[in-house]
Amino acid sequence: MALIRCPECGREVSTQAAACPACGHPLQPQCGQPAWRSSHVWGRLAIVLGAWLVTPWLARLIVALAVCVVAYFLFTKG
Ligand SMILES: [Zn+2]
Repeated sequence: MALIRCPECGREVSTQAAACPACGHPLQPQCGQPAWRSSHVWGRLAIVLGAWLVTPWLARLIVALAVCVVAYFLFTKG
């Protein structure tokens, strides 16, 4: 393990330490990343859901009709 200099008080602190033992300055601010990443996934899901809800009913009807046409051709092919 290595030693880094605390940006707050200049004291040498282990990189394993979450905060400076002398002044309490946080040395690993990325510890909150997992929660941010999960909220990012939910945010993307909300955007996709919102995009679908915001899509006009006509566009949704066209998509539904396209699916029906594709299904029709798939069933009548053989
Ligand atoms: Zn410090």
